[in-house]
Amino acid sequence: MTTTPDQPTDQNAQPTEGQQPQPQQPQRHGQHQRQPRQQHQRNPQQQQNQNQQNQHQQGWADISVIVPLYNEEDSLKELNTQLRTVLGRMNIRYEILYIDDGSTDRSFQVLRDLKRNDRHIKVVRFRRNFGKSAALAVGFDKAQGNIVITMDADLQDDPAEIPSMRRRIEDGFDLISGWKKVRHDPITKTIPSKFFNTITAMMTGVKIHDMNCGLKAYRKEVIKTVKVYGELHRYIPVLAHWEGFKVGEMVVQHRARKYGKTKFGLGRFWKGFLDLLTAIFTTRFLRRPLHLFGPIGILSMVIGGGVDLWMVINRLMLGPDVYALGSRPMFFAATILVVIGVQFISLGLLGEMISKTRTSAEEYSIREFLK
Ligand code: UDP
Ligand code: MG
Repeated sequence: MTTTPDQPTDQNAQPTEGQQPQPQQPQRHGQHQRQPRQQHQRNPQQQQNQNQQNQHQQGWADISVIVPLYNEEDSLKELNTQLRTVLGRMNIRYEILYIDDGSTDRSFQVLRDLKRNDRHIKVVRFRRNFGKSAALAVGFDKAQGNIVITMDADLQDDPAEIPSMRRRIEDGFDLISGWKKVRHDPITKTIPSKFFNTITAMMTGVKIHDMNCGLKAYRKEVIKTVKVYGELHRYIPVLAHWEGFKVGEMVVQHRARKYGKTKFGLGRFWKGFLDLLTAIFTTRFLRRPLHLFGPIGILSMVIGGGVDLWMVINRLMLGPDVYALGSRPMFFAATILVVIGVQFISLGLLGEMISKTRTSAEEYSIREFLK
């Protein structure tokens, strides 16, 4: 766990109003009162240095909200209003990062208009649809808050949960995953989801009921450590758990989709399964692929080699007339097992070599970034 022990008390160490780099948040009275008196008596230069240091250590915001979206033009305005209400009440510095994942409707125009009247908003626009994982990855990269909240843009997640999620992080968790205990989704989605969540919990040891909930809260270290790509957004808690972070969950309200329709069709089941394999592979075996392929290869070689040996001995003892190898399919099957075994081991070794030289490449392309 990379958490520093003093993390939950960070708030008290934040700069005072006079040191605020961005004046748009003047109402931080709750925290202001808790500032040590002597901070006000520092000379401006000292204050500025301290300020820069704090910014450097803590980022520019207390909370970053990341919203990946794909064709959600109808929901955005309402969502933004709800977010502003909740975040405004919290007396914190915040930013809202909208990641437009290549929408083909008016989503980007809506966001650009919203941004005009609100300096908390930042918008990243992809050139095309790269998927929710890529959108989250770029959000994680750009986010500057000490605590990061991710949520869907379709109004299914309730921004009112943010304050209590933040409290759980301050209590010491590194990641709090939402749990839609009462779901407002069609049955074609809820049943497979239950199935996947059970299997995932069994296979990975991360006992979370709702792995793929869009509403999550993270301590900054988590999002700067975990690499989300492909379709891995579904398994972020697993990835975080394997990095050693403390993962928890919290029951959250869930609402039915108000506008538009789901962006994940039936393909989600099949992809979900492949992603589970990926999650297991990348968390447990990415750095040591031979540990996955090696045992399979050795087992295959031992069985095949053993059977072959036994047959060759039989052939030598009984002679070619009684025991002809050429007419025994078992002999060929065993030989194939030996070959497969060699291949698995080679694959593992190749994987080891690749994992040693691999440099990670970004897998998205940004068209615009409105800061
Ligand atoms: N989304 C995205 N890129 C995609 C697909 C979806 O950014 O390629 C966003 C979508 O706009 C929404 C969130 O991911 O904000 C969850 O998508 P959706 O509501 O369709 O998923 P569901 O709730 O049905 O699981
Ligand atoms: Mg949804």
